Amino acid sequence: MLLETHENNRVTKLAWERFVEETLANLGALIRLDTTNPPGNERRAADFIAKALGAEGLDATIIEPAPARANLITRLRGRDSALPPLMLSSHTDVVPVEAARWTRAPFDGAIADGCIWGRGAIDMKSKCAMDLGLVLALKRSGLVPDRDVILAAVADEEAGSELGARFLVAHHPELVRAGFVLNETGGFTLHLGERRLYPIQVAEKGFVTVRMTVTGSPGHGSMPRADTAIAWIADLITRLVRTPMRRRVTPLMRATLHELGLTPEQAPPLFRPMLANTVSPTIVRAGYKDNVIPGEASVVLDGRTLPGESESSFLRELREIVGPEPLLEVIKSAPPAEASPDTELFRLIKTRTEAADPGALAVPWMLPGATDSKFYAQLGAICYGFAPVKLDARMPFGSLYHGNDERMPIAGLRWGLRLYADVVLSFLGLRFGDVFA
Ligand SMILES: [Zn+2]
Repeated sequence: MLLETHENNRVTKLAWERFVEETLANLGALIRLDTTNPPGNERRAADFIAKALGAEGLDATIIEPAPARANLITRLRGRDSALPPLMLSSHTDVVPVEAARWTRAPFDGAIADGCIWGRGAIDMKSKCAMDLGLVLALKRSGLVPDRDVILAAVADEEAGSELGARFLVAHHPELVRAGFVLNETGGFTLHLGERRLYPIQVAEKGFVTVRMTVTGSPGHGSMPRADTAIAWIADLITRLVRTPMRRRVTPLMRATLHELGLTPEQAPPLFRPMLANTVSPTIVRAGYKDNVIPGEASVVLDGRTLPGESESSFLRELREIVGPEPLLEVIKSAPPAEASPDTELFRLIKTRTEAADPGALAVPWMLPGATDSKFYAQLGAICYGFAPVKLDARMPFGSLYHGNDERMPIAGLRWGLRLYADVVLSFLGLRFGDVFA
């Protein structure tokens, strides 16, 4: 790491511009390590991060629940062990690509058109590189934060976290137990009409993935009937997509809408999944031969549950729509999570974000999807999604998550890195200017 030593200071400060360049270089390097899940190969990223930490004299713990599925955790000791640790959290796996539909190679980390391109540039090797850079900078500064800082870069988030956060929470809770976690998803500019928002994730929905199966009598394709398993499942699917689940405005969403000057009735479509449980049919299966009417048909339903709901309350609501006959089997599920925004850390995120983009509003937010936060929250952590990046209105940021041509605007990331460093260092009782020159 490149440094500037200031004669008058007892600590060695890092030149900010060089720190930015190094963080961008680390992001490019992480993108070039293909950690597509499946199969994962997160060991590649863990080894890279461990090497960078090792160069600054920091040891990392690598937990590998399955071959090449590595989770990396390290800890910087703080001054006061009574203060709950802050964990900087990322996942190192990425979703698969359809390379033929990309403008650029998805694992090159190329810099072009003001962006760094590649799978993971947004979700979420950029935050991984930011976290790594900050821990390296802290260590190098020689300053002691007032509480422990944990760096977690884990596997398997994109496939349900079985070999990542979920595994660590179940089998190595001492490594990842924190008072506060900064994770995806939030801190990016959301252009809503004329206003600029910075959603800060404080809540996320749970999921209940269900296979729904119906049976009927099989028959010959030459003898058509209306009452087949296929017709029934088609009916149920149509009913499901046309029947909204019960609207329930959680106190958090009510407060956020109020802060935006909106009633729940005025909420734009973007908010709809945050105001109800939802269900989406995703995989349909029936039939095995072109001239046989099958006796069974099934559909996989991707159910998402609001904070305050459970697997059983979701299944009850689903039953009300599909009726008593279909067989419902839960394939996998995980609970929702919600943290209070009434904390010093949230206030710090809000005030510093609003100061960094005057006129914008940072608001507590619910993610309709799932992140590792729901698992860390099970150990008592207050988890926020804060991976700041400034975006102009033309950037199709949302569609680049898991999409083609995933890329991160460098100017926006530079802005975000400055804000992130400011928030993290402040929360640790340090000032930006203590660490960076
Ligand atoms: Zn992610």
